[in-house]
Amino acid sequence: MRVRIGESELELVEGDITEQTTEAIVNAANRTLLGGGGVDGAIHRAGGPRIMEECRKLGGCNPGDAKITIGGNLAAPYVIHAVGPVYRDGKHHEADLLAKTYRRSLEVASENNIETISFPSISTGAYGFPIDQAARIALSTVIDYLKSNQDIRLVRFVLYGRKAFDVYANALEELMKPPATEEEPEQVSEQAD
Ligand code: ADP
Repeated sequence: MRVRIGESELELVEGDITEQTTEAIVNAANRTLLGGGGVDGAIHRAGGPRIMEECRKLGGCNPGDAKITIGGNLAAPYVIHAVGPVYRDGKHHEADLLAKTYRRSLEVASENNIETISFPSISTGAYGFPIDQAARIALSTVIDYLKSNQDIRLVRFVLYGRKAFDVYANALEELMKPPATEEEPEQVSEQAD
């Protein structure tokens, strides 16, 4: 599924983030940047030890922030390591932090003249963020960014499995629906007496 946002494209695919050939792929990292499971484990396995060598020099990363390294043996020349929030109960700024994580990743891409970037579904694995809510936040944050920043030409979400893909596809369809017309609702003239 692919939509146009201004001059840029936003694409959803089902697949493996480590296989993407965009200039950058985003890692769903943890705050140590020293390795983990899920996306992080897959990226370090596929990309080899040079990524970790750079990560060790970065001094970790706070939730909501993102830092860049080389892509090592990956097809993508860069990895942007982004740390999403751990989901507790939805009352600990998780939604704001998740939006910030996507925004910061895109800012880091822009600062490095990266024009094409792939994201996984950050925080929806080990970090436990409900995926339908996370999908809306992820997509609306990216759409807002692309509307005001023309430098990034392609943002691809790489969803792991059909279920995750369907959740993101439904969320994107909802977000792309034209807004309801702003006509005044018809006045109800009947009066009870
Ligand atoms: P987090 O700790 O931020 O929750 P995880 O890596 O545990 O990150 O999971 C994030 C999401 O990425 C999950 O929905 C998971 O199914 C998905 N995922 C796991 N491996 C891959 C992969 N190789 N490519 C793309 N997505 C993946």
